[in-house]
Amino acid sequence: MPKEMEVEENGLHVENFGSLHIYSEEEHDDEQDPQVENEEDDEVEEQEPVTLGFVEKPKSPNSLLRHFFPSKAGGVPAWLDPVDLPSERSRACGICGEPLQFLLQVYAPISEKESTFHRTLFVFMCPSMACLLQDQHEQWKRQPEKPSRSVKVFRCQLCRSNPFYSSEPPRFDGTDKPSKVGAELCCWCGTWKGDKVCSSCKSARYCSEKHQIMHWRSGHKVDCQRISCQSLVSSSSNSTTSSMKILGKVAGNTLWTEFEIVSEDECVFDTEASEDNNYSTSLVCNDQMDETVNSLLESFEGSDDKKSWASFQERISKAPEQVLRYCRDSKAKPLWPMSSGRPSESDIPKCNYCHGPMHYEFQILPQLLYYFGVKNDADSLDWATIVAYTCAASCEASTGYKEEFAWVQLSSSLV
Ligand SMILES: [Zn+2]
Ligand SMILES: [Zn+2]
Ligand SMILES: [Zn+2]
Ligand SMILES: [Zn+2]
Repeated sequence: MPKEMEVEENGLHVENFGSLHIYSEEEHDDEQDPQVENEEDDEVEEQEPVTLGFVEKPKSPNSLLRHFFPSKAGGVPAWLDPVDLPSERSRACGICGEPLQFLLQVYAPISEKESTFHRTLFVFMCPSMACLLQDQHEQWKRQPEKPSRSVKVFRCQLCRSNPFYSSEPPRFDGTDKPSKVGAELCCWCGTWKGDKVCSSCKSARYCSEKHQIMHWRSGHKVDCQRISCQSLVSSSSNSTTSSMKILGKVAGNTLWTEFEIVSEDECVFDTEASEDNNYSTSLVCNDQMDETVNSLLESFEGSDDKKSWASFQERISKAPEQVLRYCRDSKAKPLWPMSSGRPSESDIPKCNYCHGPMHYEFQILPQLLYYFGVKNDADSLDWATIVAYTCAASCEASTGYKEEFAWVQLSSSLV
């Protein structure tokens, strides 16, 4: 029997980014490039309402499992469709060929459509900064050139009635269970489908040769023999369970720290940008922030970048701990840290599946790296923002995970 799940007192709502905003079917022919905001006053301009994401420690070890439809960062993905996982080619860094690492996922259903009753967006990236620097050139490539990306966004969606989950919302009382088991995952990363099997024990599964080697070196060399011996002496059903015990859950310690992503409307922070707002005071104090902003400002050559950075910082400083900005409105624009290195409208490709337009849905801020404990060295992973563009129609396609488009803007000092 699996251990009873902890009962969540206040867990009756599922974190949900998508349904907070009204979805409009009409296409807006967006004018020019996104404009650099220039205003001194927060209240002057009319802006699309943005939902902010913040990280929190998971409420319990099981609270971020897939049948709770979590928004989460780090750890392993909670695959919405647990069977039809991304292919070997999709899950590899286009530059170094290593398996990508899970960055975050956002549960963002669209209630207006039957096919998007459940809808989750997943972001993966290669942890190598060298690959990300190379990716900067790849993201400008357009058909028929094939861009080789080190950052990938996938969209998965399911109808209310589907083989994997109850059509009733989760009860969070310990009785919720997925109605179908998922594909077996890699023993090392716990992330990707384990379609390669260890030839000796025939139990350990891997997504890649690299993860098999890492698992072997970190102890599977010994475990493998134990599993092989056990399967000789015991009946087959028992040996499967005991080898599972030896293999444990996920072996790799290279994953980023796991967090839940909780949401809050940005407007909540408009009025109380002062003392009683613990988001703005607990980790990053304002003096520190000003200092960082000023020193960064001096490093910018162009005045457009200075202006853009200043208004970016001003907007972010309302809630400096935000790691995610979400707004699925066709008029919404990302908040660009810099005016250079932004895509123009023609740089955003068409949907790979329906060939319709893609639009901005969310962006990820570098604060996330701080929570992941990524070091601040010259060759450590770093970005100014990662912007996810998704199919405007959130179209259907036969594949479980549809690849969307990411635009990465690096700090100008790195480019
Ligand atoms: Zn790579
Ligand atoms: Zn793996
Ligand atoms: Zn083995
Ligand atoms: Zn599409």
